[in-house]
Amino acid sequence: MKRNFYTLIVFSLLGLFVSGCSQEHKTTEFDVVINGVRVIDPETELDTITNIGIKGKEIVAITSEDISGSKNIDATGLIAAPGFIDLHVHGQDPYSEKIGVLDGRTSQLDLEAGAIPVSAYYDYKAGKSITNYGTSIGHAFARTLVLDGVESHGIGLLNHTLEKTAATGNLWASALATDAQLDQIDKLVVEGLKEGGLGIGLMVGYYPGARSDGLARIAKIAKQYNSFLTTHTRYISLTQPSGMLGIQEMISLATSYDVPLLVHHVPTNALADTKAVLEMIDSANRHGANIVGEMFPYDRGSTFIGTEILKEGWQQRMDMDYDDITWVETGETLTEETFNKYRQERPEGYFIMRHIKEKDMLVALRHPAVIIGSDGMVFVDDDGQLLPKDAPFGAGNGHPRGAGSYGSYLRMAIDDGSLSLPKILAKTSYLPAKLLENVAPSMKKRGRLQVGAYSDITLFDPELVDGMAGYESGSNSLPSKGFMHVLVNGQIVVENGTLVANTLPGEPIRGEILQN
Ligand SMILES: [Zn+2]
Repeated sequence: MKRNFYTLIVFSLLGLFVSGCSQEHKTTEFDVVINGVRVIDPETELDTITNIGIKGKEIVAITSEDISGSKNIDATGLIAAPGFIDLHVHGQDPYSEKIGVLDGRTSQLDLEAGAIPVSAYYDYKAGKSITNYGTSIGHAFARTLVLDGVESHGIGLLNHTLEKTAATGNLWASALATDAQLDQIDKLVVEGLKEGGLGIGLMVGYYPGARSDGLARIAKIAKQYNSFLTTHTRYISLTQPSGMLGIQEMISLATSYDVPLLVHHVPTNALADTKAVLEMIDSANRHGANIVGEMFPYDRGSTFIGTEILKEGWQQRMDMDYDDITWVETGETLTEETFNKYRQERPEGYFIMRHIKEKDMLVALRHPAVIIGSDGMVFVDDDGQLLPKDAPFGAGNGHPRGAGSYGSYLRMAIDDGSLSLPKILAKTSYLPAKLLENVAPSMKKRGRLQVGAYSDITLFDPELVDGMAGYESGSNSLPSKGFMHVLVNGQIVVENGTLVANTLPGEPIRGEILQN
């Protein structure tokens, strides 16, 4: 996309119109027109009340001229932001997807857990997605294949991969790979990159005994293929080895091998060291690194109960106890007895734990370069089964972050007032797009609200917007409020706060596919 920043900035400063077309606009020129909206573009920091003209998938005009199209949206009082790009969505199923749309998201990717084979993931999503979609190469799923012999078929979490590896002893999580096994893992990772995977997802926190030299090999592969790393780092701990030490390991790989790095949910892992970790990342970036921190706006985390994170000593490591843990399916608070029972009998079942202090979460929320990622898990019914697409809103059990991350974040950030609106919205759109644009050039046209960009647009009411999902049973998957209209690739997928049925404009976000 060819942009002219200076023109945009000068015109907006003068309060004049900004337009992609100089000739008079005719009604038929636009498919959709959004009138009287406060347009905020995080890249140029444009913040002005104007009109948006859309044709096909593209924004073709941002202008103070009177325009109208085949479809007109009066957006008086609303903010138009670039559609939210969530790089951290494990719930790649249709139910999770539609709740994400009602939370303002127009792209929902899974870069943390990722997929293997990458091509199977893209085949699974093709033609049936509301939002844009994408995946990294999932290092953990290379391990389930090589160490446990369990295939994940590109949709690891939906395919009950972790239930199957429980039967083989979860070797992916606990076994030390041999040299020959590392060779096989590397081969799978390279194949994934050649299939257009977006970075390499290293969830080493789930296999904390992994060989350090094996991870260095992965970083070298990332460099060789001009890719990047994303990570759920080792250790969630206030004591040594600390969560901060785990993050330092990945910063070291990124700077040593000169690859960009996305550190998922920094406060979740760094805990009381969140401020120190963000200072370290800032310092590395001042010296030329490209490291991005991420967070979700909640003080509790969630994963499967068989996880290594809960091995003996977790109370001291995370400063919490049994009554800080909730079993997702029933909403019950655990005791020593039920904790041991579920960990033994249902290792793949999900729990929620209260282990993040609000002050640490707020440090990340106020940092202008820490992006938002929901880390949304799948929502399940009372028996732990995945909810079907048409299950009612609110029927799902799971961490509320899957439903309310962006609504909750906006409410908190606007009320907090530490950051300007363009900076608040950079964390939901422009910064995630920027991280990906080297690997997926189409991202240069997303995460921006500019002429020539894709028409991924989220329109919200700044007074009303909020996350409605909570920890209480029955409220986990309630949709956010205040997201009045959402467009994906020029098509309206949310209108007047309601999901538009049977509209599936989502496109793949994918790297270049290389010949073998
Ligand atoms: Zn994670």
